[in-house]
Parts: sequence; C-alpha cells; structure tokens
Amino acid sequence: MLRLAIQKSGRLSDDSLNLIRECGISFISSSLKLKTECTNFPLEILFLRDDDIPGYVADGVADIGIVGENVLVEEGKQELTVEKLGFSKCRLSLAVPKSAEYNSVQDLNGKNIATSYPNLLQAYLQEQGVKANIHTISGSVEIAPSIGLAEAICDIVSSGSTLISNGLKEVERVFKSEAALIATKELSEEKREILEKLLFRIHAVQRARK
Ligand code: ATP
Ligand code: ZN
Repeated sequence: MLRLAIQKSGRLSDDSLNLIRECGISFISSSLKLKTECTNFPLEILFLRDDDIPGYVADGVADIGIVGENVLVEEGKQELTVEKLGFSKCRLSLAVPKSAEYNSVQDLNGKNIATSYPNLLQAYLQEQGVKANIHTISGSVEIAPSIGLAEAICDIVSSGSTLISNGLKEVERVFKSEAALIATKELSEEKREILEKLLFRIHAVQRARK
C-alpha cells in the first residue's frame, strides 16, 4: 500500500481529491478523518496541513504527496519533485501600497517586507542585489502595510483581487507555482510499482483533460 499525503482543507484539497477520483480510485472521505484507505487501489490517503507535506514525504512517513511548489521550494525540498500537476497555479509577488511611488525593485532597498515565504523572497532579493528587512509572518500578510508593519509584502497572488481590496498593487513576480507530485527518495520496489501505476493513470487523466 502506497501512502499519499494531501492537504486536509484548503486551496489544494478539491483538485487533489478530484485528480485521484478521476484516476478511477474510490475512497470514502469525511472531513473528520485524518486518513482513509482507498477501496479499489492500494493507496492510503493522509490529510495534512500543506506546510507539513514536504517534511512528511522527506521523512518517509508518507510515500508521496501533492503540494504547491511555493511551499516545496520554500522548505528547500524541491528535489522530491516527481512532476508538476498543472493545477493550483499561482505566483508569489511583491506588492506595495497603491499610492506608493515605485520604479524598480531597487526601491525596496532598506525597506521592511512582510511575507510567509522568507527563503523564496531572500533568494529573489539577493539575485536582484537588493538588501531589505524581511519580516516573517504566518498569515494576513496583506494587511501589514496598512498597520505599519512593513512598506511592502510578498505573498501568493492568483487573480490579484485580494491585493486590490487591500489597497495594494503588484510590482514584481518572485516565483511561479503550481501543484506538484512529490515522492520520498527511498521507495520499496513494491511501492515504486504502485507509483508507476498511479502515474500511468494520472497521465491518462491529463491527456483527457486537454
Ligand atoms: P493549510 O491550512 O493547509 O496550511 P494554507 O492556508 O497554508 O493551508 P491555502 O490557502 O489553502 O494554504 O493554499 C494552499 C496552496 O494552494 C498554496 O500554497 C498555493 O500553492 C496554492 N494557492 C494559494 N492561493 C491560491 C490561489 N489564490 N489560487 C490558486 N492556488 C492557490
Ligand atoms: Zn499552509
């Protein structure tokens, strides 16, 4: 039996579960359960916080997982990637108050930037030769400028409507992300075969969706 970790509840959950269902794999899901065994395929599903998925897969507690590349790369676990899945597309962007003067990323030198993605942001700023103060906060990043915590933020954007409703404008794209299938480094021969079967079905689903 192969163990798959997916997000318990959030923006990755529905698309992750739909992919498994479209693979013809059946399971009973309940919002109260933390794991479920599929009935017609040797797969067990664990429901976790998305941030915990790369760690669980790296440690082999789960054999495979579905997680956003933003979380995966932030945690330095990109080497676990098997393949990109094409859903939950979003980007990590820098934003400043709508009224702020902004000409280039150099304007962020010496500024305070709030984010939940300090590593991705630091790598980007370094590449751009910008020195800023990164304030790591775990949620509600978009209110940081209005409460005086930071002059800029770096956060996940898809349509941009959350930024606009908080009086912010997107000024730089830092990282492009989509959901990825990841796997632990040491899979037994038996589990590797199950993974191959699962991948075969996933590819069929992806071809059918096109
Ligand atoms: P958890 O409670 O599991 O920690 P979370 O609040 O950290 O959840 P979500 O907001 O559910 O995370 O987002 C999960 C992932 O979905 C993100 O890491 C990102 O890869 C992707 N994502 C985030 N926002 C969007 C969006 N607006 N559109 C599409 N995908 C998104
Ligand atoms: Zn999370």
